[in-house]
Amino acid sequence: MEKEQYFGVNVSPLNYEEIIQDLKTRIALREKSTIIAVNPEKVMAAEKNAELMELINSSTYQIPDGVGILLASKLKKGSIRSRVTGVDMMDRLLKFAADEGHGVFLYGAKEEVVQKAAENIKAKYPAIHISGTQNGYEKDAGKVVEKINAAKPDLLFVAMGSPRQELWIREHMNHLHPVVFQGVGGSFDVFAGHVQRAPEFYRKLGLEWLYRLMKEPSRLKRQMALPKFLMRVLFSK
Ligand code: UDP
Repeated sequence: MEKEQYFGVNVSPLNYEEIIQDLKTRIALREKSTIIAVNPEKVMAAEKNAELMELINSSTYQIPDGVGILLASKLKKGSIRSRVTGVDMMDRLLKFAADEGHGVFLYGAKEEVVQKAAENIKAKYPAIHISGTQNGYEKDAGKVVEKINAAKPDLLFVAMGSPRQELWIREHMNHLHPVVFQGVGGSFDVFAGHVQRAPEFYRKLGLEWLYRLMKEPSRLKRQMALPKFLMRVLFSK
């Protein structure tokens, strides 16, 4: 797959369905795959942090989360046609796992959050096999690795914030049974119903950022990264 590059950071142009199709082949071959969400903030952070850059670029799929990368691709006549958000990617993967009989493991967030997320996921996809859960506050990584391996899941979702979750995945994936790894940030909080996403109206129009800004005006400073990023894309060759 041909990646697009923004200031040295790779972004995968595949949409949800294309990623799942690609994963089917990789799972059949038991090749390990990693999914990381990319947005303008992360691109600009990676420019100043070689380790983060390497972490992103060595992932299998760098999904264009956030409207910024989508707009950048349009400006540069790239091929990214839609956002691929971390939480929606996880949801598609859960459906896929339920349909194909792959076990999933949820690692991260507070104990009551990960429990509630598992319960709600089971209610949404009754056929799913949730191999196990683990909260994100266990210090002994060896214990966590053992617990996951004993449960033998095929897919592992890690929700401990970025880049901590991705660093954890990279450090341990070669000793872990799963073959698909996604760092999902605050997504367990969303599945647990503790965090509300923007209403569909805003999401459909690509205005999730506006909704968030209205709810939390202090986000303005963070969000200024977006126009800055787009100006730089426009004037880069
Ligand atoms: N978290 C965790 N262990 C920690 C710190 C955080 O499991 O040591 C969890 C926290 O409970 C929350 C998630 O990581 O569910 C943080 O998500 P956040 O929204 O900060 O991540 P982002 O999407 O911004 O990367």
